[in-house]
Amino acid sequence: MHINRNKEILQKVLIFARACAMMILLVKVSKLMGGFPSGQRGQTVNLLRFASVVRIHLRPCHSPVYAGLLLFLEKLDRLVQACRRGEIFVIKADFHTHTTWCDGANTTREMVEAACRLGYTDFGVSGHADFSMIEPGFGMSEEKLSAYKRELLALREEFAGRMNVYIGIELDALGPVQEAEYAIGSTHCVKKLGEYVVVDDTEEKLVDWVERLWKGDWYAFAQDYFALEATVYDRTGCDWVGHFDLLTKFNEGFKHFDENSDAYMEPALAAMKRLNAAGLPFEINTGAISRRYRTTPYPSKRLLRELFLMGGRIMINDSYNANPRSVRADLEILAKHTGGKRIAVLGDMTELGSAEESGHRDVGRTVGELGIEMLLAVGERSKKWMVPAAKEAGCADVRWFASRDEARDALLPHFAPGDAVLLKASHFICRFDLMADYLREYQF
Ligand SMILES: [Zn+2]
Repeated sequence: MHINRNKEILQKVLIFARACAMMILLVKVSKLMGGFPSGQRGQTVNLLRFASVVRIHLRPCHSPVYAGLLLFLEKLDRLVQACRRGEIFVIKADFHTHTTWCDGANTTREMVEAACRLGYTDFGVSGHADFSMIEPGFGMSEEKLSAYKRELLALREEFAGRMNVYIGIELDALGPVQEAEYAIGSTHCVKKLGEYVVVDDTEEKLVDWVERLWKGDWYAFAQDYFALEATVYDRTGCDWVGHFDLLTKFNEGFKHFDENSDAYMEPALAAMKRLNAAGLPFEINTGAISRRYRTTPYPSKRLLRELFLMGGRIMINDSYNANPRSVRADLEILAKHTGGKRIAVLGDMTELGSAEESGHRDVGRTVGELGIEMLLAVGERSKKWMVPAAKEAGCADVRWFASRDEARDALLPHFAPGDAVLLKASHFICRFDLMADYLREYQF
C-alpha cells in the first residue's frame, strides 16, 4: 500500500536493513538516552551505533546492518554506562513515537525539538491510527490525520538541514488502514466473543478479560493473540512489526504465564515465521522499559534469538570508505558474530600514501589474528600485501579476485544462513555498495 518512494526513504534510514535474507531490526532504546520533555513517555531513541557491538550507518550509501544484537541485549547495562561516559558513538533516530495527536504526553513540536536538541539525525512520528472501534475519539480520524500530516510537513521544512522528519502511522491489526509515509503494524487488541480486548491497557483489565473470555487460560489467550499478530502484514501492509509480543507487557517475571513453555512459544513462533517469511522487519521496542513495566525489550530475548536463527544472512556494509583503522574496527565487529561463519570481503584502500604497504599488511594480519574464517580480497594492492599477511597470520581460507563482481560470485555459494559478511573497501575504486545492493536483492 505504500508507494515505493517512501519505502526507499525508509530503507535508507532503517537501522537494520533486511532485504532478501538480511535481518532488519529496529532498535528502540529510549532508556539509554532519555532527555525528552515528558521523561517517561514518548521518549525515543532508535538508532544506536555501538562502537564495539552494533555498527549502523544512516547515510544513504551505507546500508544499515545488524551485528551482535544479542550481545547488545546481554550487555545493555554496561552499554548504558559506556554511553554516558561518551565511549560509544551513538547515531540517534527513532521511528516509533507518539505525541498529543494520540496518546503521547508531548506535542509534535516538543518531540521534534527535543529530538533535534539531542542530536537526532532522523525522527519519525507514528501516531495511532483511528481506534474508534474500541474507544471513540482515540487515535486519528482521517480529518485529524490530515492536520497531523500538515503539522509534520511544516516541521520537516523548519528542521530541514538539521534533522530529517518523517510522517508515520501506527496501524492496528483490527483497525482501519490509513496512509502515511510509513506504517508500523501492531497488534494492540484481539477480538473475543464479540469483545475487544486491549492487551496493553491495564493489568487489572487484562486479567479480568482473560478470566472471563478465556476462562483464565493465558495460553489460549496467547494463541489467539499470535494468530491475529500473524496476519498483521496481510491486514495492514505495514512496513514493519511493532512490539511483536506486546501481550507480555504485564508478565514481567512470568507472572501470568511461562514465556518459555511450548504452549506460549509455539503460536509465537508460528506468527514470527509467517511475518519473517514476508520479509518484515521486527521492531525492538523499549516502550515498556521506559514505562517501568518490563526490564527487557519487545520482542523478548528468547524470541529475538529465534528470529536471529530464522534471520538468515547478515551483511555489514560499510563500503563508503576504508582505511586501516576503520577496517580494523569493522573486522572487530565482524569477529564478534557468533552462529555462523565470518567472511570479510575487503578491497584496496586508497590515499594511504607512504603507509600503503603497511596499511594493507596490517589489515591482512588483523583478519588472521581475529580468526575470521574467510577473506575475499579484491584489487592489486590487496593481492600484493593483504593476502600474504592474512595467510601468514593464520586465516584458513584466503582468496583473491581482480574484480568486485568476481569476488561477489565467489561469495554467494559460501554465504549461508547464520553467516555474517563484511563489505569494506575504498569507495571510488571498488564500489562495494553495488555488491551490497546485489546481495540485498539476491534470491538465496
Ligand atoms: Zn503500539
